[in-house]
Amino acid sequence: MTEVQLQEFKLEPDSELRFEVESKNEKVVLEVKSGYAELFGTELVKAKPYEFHTGAKVAVFTWHGCTVELRGKTEVSYVAKETPMVVYLNVHAALEQQRVAAEQESTRGPVTMVVGPGDVGKSTLTRILLNYAVRMGRRPIYVDLDVGQGHISVPGTIGALLVERPASIEEGFSQQAPLVYHFGHSSPGENLELYNTIVGRLAEVIAERCENNKKASTSGVIINTCGWIKGDGYKVLSHAAQAFEVDVILVLDNERLYNELKRDMPKFVKVVYLPKSGGVVERSSTQRAEARDARIREYFYGKRTPYYPHSFDVKFNDLKIYKVGAPSLPASCMPLGMRAADALTKVVQVSPSGALQHRVLAVSFAAGPHDDVLHSNLAGFVCVSVPSTIFIYIILQHRVLAVSFAAGPHDDVLHSNLAGFV
Ligand code: ATP
Repeated sequence: MTEVQLQEFKLEPDSELRFEVESKNEKVVLEVKSGYAELFGTELVKAKPYEFHTGAKVAVFTWHGCTVELRGKTEVSYVAKETPMVVYLNVHAALEQQRVAAEQESTRGPVTMVVGPGDVGKSTLTRILLNYAVRMGRRPIYVDLDVGQGHISVPGTIGALLVERPASIEEGFSQQAPLVYHFGHSSPGENLELYNTIVGRLAEVIAERCENNKKASTSGVIINTCGWIKGDGYKVLSHAAQAFEVDVILVLDNERLYNELKRDMPKFVKVVYLPKSGGVVERSSTQRAEARDARIREYFYGKRTPYYPHSFDVKFNDLKIYKVGAPSLPASCMPLGMRAADALTKVVQVSPSGALQHRVLAVSFAAGPHDDVLHSNLAGFVCVSVPSTIFIYIILQHRVLAVSFAAGPHDDVLHSNLAGFV
């Protein structure tokens, strides 16, 4: 572990500086002193300080060479000469050619899906390609199907954004007016039926919007996916590819997946194998869980721009709370004509109880339960902090109480014997 406060790096063309910030409450400031550099496709402004906090894993890449300064304590920091950036740039150039052709022929631009196992840099490649597209004056649509991370909204959702400017170095893509659908779990495997339903719906809505926005339509779509690629995970990817009618699938660092997709996808879908960057950092399940918590916190409290969420009381009578998915019954108990899988997308009313405390609920645009809740996008999220009566209920939960023979608190409780326990 290095403990250096100020470090200066001279980067040659086509090399990158990688660093990680690990220590708690640590802040590292990055500044480009001379030359040109970019961070996951966003150009860095010379002499402007950029702050990175605990958990940041960063690569500053330069096409032309530059000098970079780091202030603060980094867990690791090194310069790497071997990067797959030239390959990624070639992918961008190929997509750009398709956009030009789409513009000339008034057709749809390339729909690209990035797939691969966990921790291979799918989200990073998506960000780089979107940034390069928008720097060329395009307006691509960013779709995030990775429910485990929640790059567009909170984890447990899928969503889409129209990208109009490069991602901010510290805050990522602007979150204005995203289209978000509720899933409620951190892996598609928890409810495949629901996941495929909302993916299908998101694809439909994007196709509709593209019809009315020519610029977005010719710029195309870039889809980030989950790292679950085997068994049902593969079926989920194939379903997404079908739903979005993808033209290009970029497979990161997995030959088996590449060959399976090449075998199963229709001929017009270009399946391309890409190497992963040596800089991508593997994350443990604890780190992933922490990243999810941080993302939810960020939703309510903001990242750099602080938000001040306030609580207000709402009567449970004024609310209608539902969850998606009823317990599934064996096929023999199902009413005629219904499949057991139908239960997984059933909307079930939830009665208010202490179990709701600290839960994050999605606020749907659906007018009522009979409206199409699954197909409606979200207005936002609320966190339940339960009022005092229910709070007492929670404290007493699972406690054993002694029932005294004492007539009341003023009677001699300590000297009275017990009737029993509850
Ligand atoms: P997941 O399986 O969670 O979807 P992923 O395949 O999308 O992961 P990323 O999230 O893109 O992987 O990358 C994992 C981590 O590695 C991120 O924190 C990212 O900032 C970091 N990272 C990516 N590329 C580099 C690089 N070239 N140098 C240093 N760190 C990098």
